Amino acid sequence: MRILISGAAGFLGSHLCDKLIALGNEVIGMDNFITGNKDNLAHLAGNEKFSFIRHDVANFIFVPGKVDAVMHFASPASPNPASPFGFPNLPIQTMKAGALGTHNMLGVARDHKARYILASTSEIYGDPLEHPQREGYWGHVDPIGLRSVYDESKRFAEALTMAYHRYHHINTGIVRIFNTYGPRMRLDDGRVIPNFIQQALKKEELTIYGDGSQTRSFCYVDDLIDGIIKLLYSEEHYPVNIGNPDEITIVDLAKLVNEVIGNTKETVFLEGKVAGDDPMRRQPDITRASTILKWEPKINLHQGLKKTIPYFLEKLNL
Ligand code: NAD
Ligand code: UDP
Repeated sequence: MRILISGAAGFLGSHLCDKLIALGNEVIGMDNFITGNKDNLAHLAGNEKFSFIRHDVANFIFVPGKVDAVMHFASPASPNPASPFGFPNLPIQTMKAGALGTHNMLGVARDHKARYILASTSEIYGDPLEHPQREGYWGHVDPIGLRSVYDESKRFAEALTMAYHRYHHINTGIVRIFNTYGPRMRLDDGRVIPNFIQQALKKEELTIYGDGSQTRSFCYVDDLIDGIIKLLYSEEHYPVNIGNPDEITIVDLAKLVNEVIGNTKETVFLEGKVAGDDPMRRQPDITRASTILKWEPKINLHQGLKKTIPYFLEKLNL
């Protein structure tokens, strides 16, 4: 296939490029580098299966030649208000990537009668009242909270994707991605795993926002990419959760990271840092992914952290 991937210079987009090229596909990467990094694609320079277009997906997209699949991954993705790259600090850009970007990428899929995959998120469930979260759950989202620019743009993106499927008969798919970690995450994007790993490697106190009783379920990037590619190769049109159902509190995550790295510093609790719409718990129900795609994650959190730490050691020159 010849595949257009937006957000190609980002954490997930760059891994997707690598895996799809390794499987024999041709990839056209697209990115405007707002949160991405050229280094994530540097190893693909000169690869005849890869080309790159620097472009903001909020503007009309033209791709020369035939396209068989379109994957829309461009969006700021960090929730942290303290990070310059968090979506509360890029609110309009976040909404434009989710709304206008989705519209433009769907336009490419329509022109080429291509398979379309939308990178959606567990955030569309908001601070969930149902646990674990099944795809049939409609969510509990504050429409004007700090995270709303992200949550609502992704909810709009899902609705527009289904509209193109129902009205224009585009072969669309929607992946609801749960918290994912691994090499190539931005060091400074403020997400919990990059923060904790760096703090532990520098023998500093780990910073827990709130009381740390909130939960997340973390998926290693290779597992996630495998699931997304299975969805791409399928003809499934309804949303599919991809994530690791192994749920952990943030307090226990801090203990695990300290244990794996050997950091003995106490953790600190920063009550004021927790945003009002920070979800209290999150865990994917992956029944649909395991039945429809025959997918389930293979790498547990302990193994995944061990695979991720060398990347941080290298980036930090430690
Ligand atoms: P990332 O910030 O590393 O990558 C996003 C990429 O999109 C960046 O390279 C950025 O420069 C690019 N981009 C943003 N706006 C753009 C625009 N208007 N035009 C062109 N490029 C633009 O984030 P990520 O973690 O790789 O996330 C990728 C996708 O997966 C996002 O859509 C995100 O919402 C989704 N997602 C990620 C996670 C996760 O845990 N990483 C969880 C849920 C959903
Ligand atoms: N968090 C934390 N300390 C940090 C960074 C984040 O306690 O240094 C918390 C954050 O408040 C949230 C959870 O960890 O409850 C996961 O945060 P992340 O930004 O990684 O992703 P989210 O799932 O909130 O989008």
